[in-house]
Amino acid sequence: MSLDDTPPWNDVRNYVDGDWRDPRGPNGQEVVNPATGESISYVGFSSAADVEDAVEAGMAAFETWESTPVEERIQPLFELKRLLEAHQSELAEVLVREHGKTRAEANGELRRGIENVEVACGIPSMMQAGHLPNAAPDIDETAVRKPLGVFTAITPFNFPGMIPLWFLPYAVATGNAFILKPSEQVPVVTERLFELIDRAGFPDGVVQLVHGGVETVNALLDNEDVVGASFVGSTPVARTVYERAATHGKRVQAQGGAKNHIIVTETADLDFAARKTVSSAYACGGERCLANDVVVVDESVYDEFADRLLERARAQTVGDGLDEGTDIGALITPEHETRVRELIQTGVDEGAELLLDGRDVTVDGYEDGNFLGPTVFGDVAPEMTIAREEIFGPVLGLVPVSGLDEAIEILNGSEFGNAASLFTSSGADARTVRHRADVGNLGVNAGTAAPMAFFHFGGRKASFFGDLHAQGEDMIRFYTDETVYIERWPDA
Ligand code: NAD
Repeated sequence: MSLDDTPPWNDVRNYVDGDWRDPRGPNGQEVVNPATGESISYVGFSSAADVEDAVEAGMAAFETWESTPVEERIQPLFELKRLLEAHQSELAEVLVREHGKTRAEANGELRRGIENVEVACGIPSMMQAGHLPNAAPDIDETAVRKPLGVFTAITPFNFPGMIPLWFLPYAVATGNAFILKPSEQVPVVTERLFELIDRAGFPDGVVQLVHGGVETVNALLDNEDVVGASFVGSTPVARTVYERAATHGKRVQAQGGAKNHIIVTETADLDFAARKTVSSAYACGGERCLANDVVVVDESVYDEFADRLLERARAQTVGDGLDEGTDIGALITPEHETRVRELIQTGVDEGAELLLDGRDVTVDGYEDGNFLGPTVFGDVAPEMTIAREEIFGPVLGLVPVSGLDEAIEILNGSEFGNAASLFTSSGADARTVRHRADVGNLGVNAGTAAPMAFFHFGGRKASFFGDLHAQGEDMIRFYTDETVYIERWPDA
């Protein structure tokens, strides 16, 4: 497989101890282009023995990697950044073909992934802990951060070009070995990423890739030599992974699903808010943990905001992500499309007003694609299913409220706490929401509350299990343990 061919592609392989190997488990699945329904590759699932081989190689690599000077450890990351930028458009094309999102979205996510590689290049400064001379009489104290061993990350289908990079660069820059288990639904772009990793100059066994499903994840979590696990995916699996990893003594961070709210106050710039809401709800077909699909609007501006929003929603073009004019690409699988269609029907059955119905959309020449058009519900009540459950499709609901207190009550009443956004011209309203919103990320006049890589990223409540989040400074703490030296030299 080279970086510039077109599908069908070869079966994907693991990358273990610097070698490309076929997964040896009995199961596997076709990789399907969601826009065409065509099979474009095949992924075999790794066996427990495949996982064991990777863990052993990781432990062997860790022995020398942990004491490799930090300046040497970051050199492959500088090279990886260069390679990722040089091959970004090819990676983006693979990503579009196996995921269904648009080329612009694929490029955007790769850029956010590269940003994490850049931040991890600063580990020599970030990894320093602290030193205090004369902390007590004749005593100097020094805290140092040390890497711990072999870590794993298990990642979801929706951002395969970015989410592995929330973890991988920090894990290896701090001196650990790292094993990635990507989503079995989008394994090809990960293999392409590892073709670049293979060329970046990491010693064998420092960065590895094992494909697979539940059995592969369980083999990683049950392995006592894996010291820590990061997970990103749906809430039920996040909860299970958190518990299983903890049972095996690992440090663990598990990011789950979401239900994100936008609050539009009476002083908001309605045109701007409508534009940002459409992009937040429909980008990547709504398959984003930051998709804001519950829009809580002050009743004094509800009708005007709904009109502006509908005008923009109707203008969205649905199609193959490879076509430049496409705004909304295909959903990941026919099963997921069916689930979103059922949720739309539930919205109708529970009494919400269907203002724009995306169920009849057709894309000429793509009859086997998993397409749904932009869908807007009005008069949604907070207790309705579409206002509570993660939809993960191009569907949004407008909830009329009277005043900011009611809006915040709805936001904080959610089971989830990943992100929210506020549109307002009032500093006082912004300050109130900043103080009271129970979310991990809050956008103020910003539709998608995605922090840059030098800030941590993670939610609260059912959106996150653990304490240290992905990206930035939290990653340094997750991937290291501190030892404090307390020193006295009586002769000095
Ligand atoms: P998923 O939970 O189905 O799968 C995620 C990963 O877990 C995959 O690698 C999969 O192979 C593995 N997996 C699946 N079932 C498992 C099980 N029973 N035991 C062990 N491992 C299992 O999630 P998905 O459909 O790939 O991704 C979409 C979900 O991810 C959404 O809920 C979305 O909100 C969430 N997500 C959250 C964030 C965040 O930062 N909070 C970011 C992206 C996506």
